[in-house]
Amino acid sequence: MTINIKEISDKDRNSVLHPFTQLKAFASGELGDPTIVETGKGIRIQDAHGNHLIDGFAGLYCVNVGYGRAEVAEAISRQAFRLAYYHSYAAHTTDELAILSDRLVKMAPGKMSKVFYGMSGSDANETQAKLVWYYNNLRGKPSKKKIISRERGYHGCSVVSGSMTGMSFYHDHMDLPLPQIVHTGVPHHYWGRNPGESEREFSTRRGEELDQLIERLGPENVGGFIGEPVLGTGGITPPPEGYWQAIQAVLKKHDVLLIADEVITGFGRTGSMFGSQHYGIEPDLVTIAKGLTSAYFPLSAAIVGEKVYKVLEDGADKVGAFSHGYTYSGHPIGAAAANAVLDIVEKEDLPGNARDVGAFFQAQLQEKFAQLPIVGEVRGVGLMGAIEFVADRKNRERFDPSLKVGARVSKAARDRGLIARAMPHGDILGFAPPLVTTKGEAEEIVALAEGAVRSVMDDLVREGER
Ligand code: PMP
Repeated sequence: MTINIKEISDKDRNSVLHPFTQLKAFASGELGDPTIVETGKGIRIQDAHGNHLIDGFAGLYCVNVGYGRAEVAEAISRQAFRLAYYHSYAAHTTDELAILSDRLVKMAPGKMSKVFYGMSGSDANETQAKLVWYYNNLRGKPSKKKIISRERGYHGCSVVSGSMTGMSFYHDHMDLPLPQIVHTGVPHHYWGRNPGESEREFSTRRGEELDQLIERLGPENVGGFIGEPVLGTGGITPPPEGYWQAIQAVLKKHDVLLIADEVITGFGRTGSMFGSQHYGIEPDLVTIAKGLTSAYFPLSAAIVGEKVYKVLEDGADKVGAFSHGYTYSGHPIGAAAANAVLDIVEKEDLPGNARDVGAFFQAQLQEKFAQLPIVGEVRGVGLMGAIEFVADRKNRERFDPSLKVGARVSKAARDRGLIARAMPHGDILGFAPPLVTTKGEAEEIVALAEGAVRSVMDDLVREGER
């Protein structure tokens, strides 16, 4: 299809309220025209000007099987022709939905029992909060309602999930967070450690701080804890050694449910099928989205563990029907898309690819970037990684934010044909390419990123900032 670029740009500027966009700068044209993304194949997308870009972020860490997979498009089309929609209320189902749910319960980490479906990671985490509250009401512990999440954790932007998100710019001017949500320290050893503190000691301290926080709130008031196995939007930060062991011991002690937010880490990104399996996490509830359909259709789920489900079922005589559900819960087209995607994940062993190509990618990132004078930390696991830039390596000092070093590196990468994301909380360049990325493509990503980082480094020297 040939499109009229000016017409599309004008219509967009006049009528789309874009997420995460400075509205005035966009409206005035200061940000330039919108990027009209037209097609995608493998790890590449093409814009309306014919520019090819390597998508080093898989959209928003979601197009894990890559763009243009005919198997998934055909599964969606087949289902749309056969039965475009039916709901899953009052014990209705479809074959695709039942098959998908059976697969998810069997493959999920921990002892899972049932799957509740939504359309986004945010609404699935909203469901998780309601499940924590419902569970504690049914078992006669109605005060056990506070949910703890971490600073720099990301869990969505709806009312409860946005409160769980530990980033102030998601709260400011939007009357969040809700009082039921409380935040604890971020598990990032590089910035959070005390002088001389090892990863393990730091993890132990984070565990002790959580213990003290629960004691302060009163264990009878704390119902849940939510965390991403690997912090994603908070900076692509794998947990320090011993972190999840320290946290889980405290949660067990205080009878607090653990929600593993596997929206990014689910379905292979860390090199294991789930991040929980990678780090020895035994969750009570698991949140999935993104990789579940590789974003070919909006579908998410709250997977409910046996312990929680049993209380829900036992309480049914008392409370009646489980009164929670969306029109699109268990959408048959989403279920068909997910089954087709999971076929690819399993057949092509995408967790194995993320492990093998990921190991190569992580080693390349270390080799090319770790010793550069403006790099403080290179980190990652599987096919997610980050480079954090600092003004002073020795004293761990950040750049003046007004220099916008992270954004400049991201722009320089873009100018070279690579999408790598500037992340909040410092000057961070993040990578999360599709899980089908080959070794050769990983090399290309690293080479383009290296050109970008070196050019910004040279500019900083010229500007007298180095
Ligand atoms: N949890 C995590 C870990 C995420 O990364 C995201 C999205 N980036 C969400 C939840 C929210 O998902 P959505 O944007 O689909 O609402």
